[in-house]
Amino acid sequence: MSLLQIAEPNQSTKPHTHRYALGIDLGTTRSLVAVVRSGKPQVIGDKVSECQSGATADSIDCQKLLPSVVYFGKDDQGNNQTLVGSYAEAMAEKLPQFTIRSVKRFMGRAKTDIKFNHPYELVGENNVMPSIATPQGDKNPVEISSILLKHLYDRAKKALPDNSIVGAVITVPAYFDEAQRQATKDAANLIGLHVIRLLNEPTAAAVAYGLDKNSEQVYHLVYDLGGGTFDVSVLKLNHSVFEVLATGGNSALGGDDIDRLIANYLLKSANFDPKSIDNQQKQALNVIARQAKEKLTTQDSMVVSFQINQQTYQVTLNNAIVAEVIKPVSDRTIVICDQVLRDAKLTKADLHEVVLVGGSTRMPIVQNLVANYFGKKPLCRINPDEVVALGASKYADQLIGETDDQILLLDVTPLSLGLETMGGLVEVIIPRNTPIPVKRKQVFTTYQDYQNAMIVHVVQGERDTVKDNRSLGQFKLTDIPAMKAGIARIEVTFAIDANGQLTVTAQELTTGKHSEITVKPSYGLSATEQEKLLQAGFDNAMLDREKRSLIEQEVEADRELLAIDSALAEFGQLLTKEQSTQLQNAMQALKHAIDSHDKARLTDAVHALKLHSDEFASIIMNQAVNQSMAGTNTKDWI
Ligand code: ADP
Ligand code: MG
Repeated sequence: MSLLQIAEPNQSTKPHTHRYALGIDLGTTRSLVAVVRSGKPQVIGDKVSECQSGATADSIDCQKLLPSVVYFGKDDQGNNQTLVGSYAEAMAEKLPQFTIRSVKRFMGRAKTDIKFNHPYELVGENNVMPSIATPQGDKNPVEISSILLKHLYDRAKKALPDNSIVGAVITVPAYFDEAQRQATKDAANLIGLHVIRLLNEPTAAAVAYGLDKNSEQVYHLVYDLGGGTFDVSVLKLNHSVFEVLATGGNSALGGDDIDRLIANYLLKSANFDPKSIDNQQKQALNVIARQAKEKLTTQDSMVVSFQINQQTYQVTLNNAIVAEVIKPVSDRTIVICDQVLRDAKLTKADLHEVVLVGGSTRMPIVQNLVANYFGKKPLCRINPDEVVALGASKYADQLIGETDDQILLLDVTPLSLGLETMGGLVEVIIPRNTPIPVKRKQVFTTYQDYQNAMIVHVVQGERDTVKDNRSLGQFKLTDIPAMKAGIARIEVTFAIDANGQLTVTAQELTTGKHSEITVKPSYGLSATEQEKLLQAGFDNAMLDREKRSLIEQEVEADRELLAIDSALAEFGQLLTKEQSTQLQNAMQALKHAIDSHDKARLTDAVHALKLHSDEFASIIMNQAVNQSMAGTNTKDWI
């Protein structure tokens, strides 16, 4: 509860202004805004009239849930016509290529990352976030998201006193990477909406349920199946502190996929090959499938009517059939739950509550599936469509200090972060599932004598080699003072702030010379790529260990060759011609062995070279001793 301010006597009495912070759930399918008013989180809705032309006008929810859809077109006079929400949704059937839905799937992604089906013409280079071609020109995902955010912001402005909104907490899937988070913030910045904090959606749901009020140490699992994304988080609650122990998910798995599976079932039941149907009819059928699916949450069976090529077809659907049809999606969610539990080192029996979030968890099929798998009835007493926005508003309110509730939220990194070391290996600095904010340091050194610069290459992923992970960015630390290899001390710091934003700094400790980047890649990891990276990490653990040890040996051998090279340049004249040839030959053999990537050959060549290099080293030593004794009298040092 906020406290009212009372002015001191004789002081100018500025009127008390209550400040509000919004909670925004910028969903793939639907978005909404909530705020804490009179101590209660509540969703801010539109006037009913604003929903009336929408396809979902019969639903009271359309006042609160804004379909995340934007239409870009021209009116009869050729003027730009931009429609948002249900107005836009109504255009989807006629002009699907200009009616942008699920724009969240494009946020922070490169063109090459976009492997899912969509009816849009993408423009732009392969390795940057693509724009979508519309009659109003090319529109990029950040801009499109900002239109949705503006609609929600305007709703809130209408409902709250002038100039009383200080900003918003915007939720993102726990699985969003750096680029996707940054794109979300950029969208808010575009419309002048201050982002107080980005918050993981499952964490927001936990806040909404007030799960922090339990003083014992307990674990909860949040299962969020929305329209376009699936997120699972395991939360640990201890003395009112939330800690996300582990997260997992798939940012391309949700109700949209369920709709497509049902639509394909309808087509197959009418003897059509789904591949033979054009996009427009497919889109129309997806809408019919979605409506059928939503109806089946309140009735067990129905007849679905649809048209293909001007012919009408009728197919009976019931929950038993749908359960079978959507098995690829539901099974996948369970596999992910299993993985996340294992990551958290917990079993199903350790969970106190299972929380359902996301519109798709209204399906009785999903509720039963979760109840059966976990062996307990999941929590869904707060509307699963609203729970994330409500939690975000509660958290926003706490952040601006309007309530005296103290909660601390800890999130975790979804993938390991590290940097490239010699031989293309990854040194992990912050392992996956580390609570954030976090700061970790590690000291590195130079590889070559008098090396005066160093590339810091930041990578994300679970594999041991750089090429198998995702490159996030790189920078160069220059002006390292001239020193022998291995002497310079370069301290690299990885810091992730509460928004999940990564800053990497490198500092040469003797000079204090310092360089940094905030990692802001032009594109992010695709969902499948994230899953692949995680899976690859598990599948390849053995392989990676062997590969890593081979690469480490190769790097060591390379270093040895460089050291001998530099010694030869200085002391080569101390060797006889024969000694020199033998040494050179052994070095040559080692170079070939390194290139062969054959472990046995490498080991042999290292041993062979050692014989000669040891001999060379002792010659150098003798010479050094002789030199240091030169001009001195033996009696001086006896
Ligand atoms: P997101 O967070 O991805 O935007 P939501 O949590 O709003 O998604 O969920 C949207 C999804 O929920 C859509 O796929 C929609 O079809 C589905 N959905 C909404 N209501 C129901 C319902 N009554 N039964 C089944 N699915 C529903
Ligand atoms: Mg959601």
